[in-house]
Amino acid sequence: MSSFYDFGFNDGVLDGIEAMNFDKPTPIQEQTIPLTMSGRDVIGCAQTGTGKTAAYLLPIMHHLLENPNRTGVGALILSPTRELALQIDQAATGFCYFSGLGTRAVYGGGDAVSFENEKKALTKGADIIIATPGRLLAHLNLGYVNFSNLQHLILDEADRMLDMGFFDDIMRIVKGLPENRQTLMFSATMPPRIRQLASKILKNPAQVNIAISKPAEGIVQQAYCTYDTQKIPLLVNLLANDQHVSIIIFSSTKIKVKEIERELKRLKYSAAAIHSDLEQNEREEVLRSFRNRNLRMLVATDVLSRGIDIENISLVINFDVPGDAEDYVHRVGRTARAESTGMAITLINEFDMSRFASIEKLIGYEIPKLPLPGDLGEGPAYNPAAKHFRSFGHGKGGNKGGGNKGGGGGGGKRRFNGRKGKGGSHQGKAPQQPKS
Ligand code: ADP
Ligand code: MG
Repeated sequence: MSSFYDFGFNDGVLDGIEAMNFDKPTPIQEQTIPLTMSGRDVIGCAQTGTGKTAAYLLPIMHHLLENPNRTGVGALILSPTRELALQIDQAATGFCYFSGLGTRAVYGGGDAVSFENEKKALTKGADIIIATPGRLLAHLNLGYVNFSNLQHLILDEADRMLDMGFFDDIMRIVKGLPENRQTLMFSATMPPRIRQLASKILKNPAQVNIAISKPAEGIVQQAYCTYDTQKIPLLVNLLANDQHVSIIIFSSTKIKVKEIERELKRLKYSAAAIHSDLEQNEREEVLRSFRNRNLRMLVATDVLSRGIDIENISLVINFDVPGDAEDYVHRVGRTARAESTGMAITLINEFDMSRFASIEKLIGYEIPKLPLPGDLGEGPAYNPAAKHFRSFGHGKGGNKGGGNKGGGGGGGKRRFNGRKGKGGSHQGKAPQQPKS
C-alpha cells in the first residue's frame, strides 16, 4: 500500500491528511491502519519518530466520523507526559481541523480555568480526549466523566508509561471503561512488562513490529570511558571546542540535569534544562526556544527524552548511558539526518559498561572509545565483562543516596581517584575494545 487513499478513509480524514501535508504512509501506519480499521485490538511497536500518532489517530477519526450519533467521549488517548499529550493534541487538532471532530487535552499543570475546561470536555464528551493518567484520575475521582460510550482507548508510549510507574493508574482508568471498546497500544519498545499490561487490557490483539533502524552512516558516534567525577570537566572540554548549533545533553537524573545546566550557564552558554520540577509552561517555553534555535543547548532527563519530537540536532551527548539500548538509537537518530553532519557522544562510567556493550550489540558494531582529552587524567578501561559493584552511598552519581554534590564527596574513597593531574602517560592510548 503506497497511498493514504488506499485505506478507504472518509473525506474528513483525507482532508486532514492533506492539511498536514502527509504524502505516503510510514511503515507502522501502513501496517497498523488496516488492522485498526477492521476493529481489532492492535499493538504497534516502532521506534520514535516513525509516525505512530497518525497510525492510531487516522483510523479512530474515520470510525468516529462514520458513527456520528454518539454521546460522551468517543476516544481516549493516554500519554505519559504533558509534553507528549500536548504534541498529540497538536497533531489531532491539525488532522481534525476540517472534520468537525473536537479534541481536548487533559494534562494538568495549568490553572483553574483549564481544569474547568477539561471538566466540561469530559462531561459533555469531546470526540477525542488526550490525557495523562494522573490528571485524568483527578477528574474521574470527581465523578462527572462520561466514558459510557467510549469506543477507543489508545495507550501511547506504553513503555514510558510503565517506566514512569503508571501501571496501577492505567488499570484504575481501564476499570471504568466499557468492555466493548477497541484498545490500541503503541510503544517504542516491547519489554515483557508491556506484554503483561497488554494481556490485561487488550483482546486478542494483532501485533505489528517494525524493526529498529540503525543509526545512519553519516552520524559520527564516539564514547569516552570516564569516572563520574570526570564527566562535568569532560563535557566542558567537549563543548569548548564545539561548533554545533543545536545540542542536546541527556542525563539519567534530575539532580544531574540541574547540575549540568548550572555549569553551562556559569560558562555563559545558551543552555536550559527540562525536568519534572518545571511548570508545564516553562517546559514548553524551553522546548519552543530550542526548536526555534534561540536556545543552543538543551539538557534533559531520560524520562522526558523519549517521544519528544525535535529533529535536526547536530550533537547529542549522553551524559549517562541510556537505560534501554533502543533509547540510544532513538537519540542518535535525531542528529542531523539530512545534512549528515550529526554527532553522538556517550560518556560511560565503570558501572554502565555492560549496558553500553548491549547497545553495541543491538547496532551491530563497536563505537570507538576515545582517550580523555586535556588534563582530565585517565578514565576507567572499557571492560564490559567485568563486574563493577557500587559501594554504599557511591551510586552512579550518588543519585539514589543524594550525595553527588560536586562529585568530590561521592567518589572520594575510590582507589582510582588519586590519578588526577598526571594522566599524561596514558594519553593517546584508546582502551582496548573487546572482541565479541
Ligand atoms: P512517533 O510517535 O512514532 O514518535 P510521530 O507520530 O510523533 O512519531 O511522528 C514523527 C513526525 O513525523 C511528526 O512530525 C509527524 O508529523 C511526521 N509524520 C508522521 N507520519 C508522516 C507521514 N506519513 N508523512 C509525513 N510526515 C509524517
Ligand atoms: Mg509518539
